[in-house]
Amino acid sequence: MSVDEIKCPHCGKWSNRMGTIDERCPYCDHHFEPGRFRYAQEQKMIIQRNRQDGFMVIKKDDDPIVKILKELVNWVRWTTFYGISAIYIIIAVIVILYGLVMI
Ligand SMILES: [Zn+2]
Repeated sequence: MSVDEIKCPHCGKWSNRMGTIDERCPYCDHHFEPGRFRYAQEQKMIIQRNRQDGFMVIKKDDDPIVKILKELVNWVRWTTFYGISAIYIIIAVIVILYGLVMI
């Protein structure tokens, strides 16, 4: 990591920075880059929400049978997703090959 000098947008004092997103000013404790920090937080939240919606969350205290069922559902979901993607790619390849043959 590189050490740079940064001027705090809040108090105007210069200090060293390490380049991390959640870095704070040592003088006034404000974020150096509040916009960038907020954006990173939002992205993290979106990823977390997608993960919770997209998967059946397996908890530690779940019944073994429930766990297996959840894993099965997750597996079917992902195989379907990748299966459909693979079919589209195969169709695209066939169309390209067909086009090349017809020329
Ligand atoms: Zn400051």
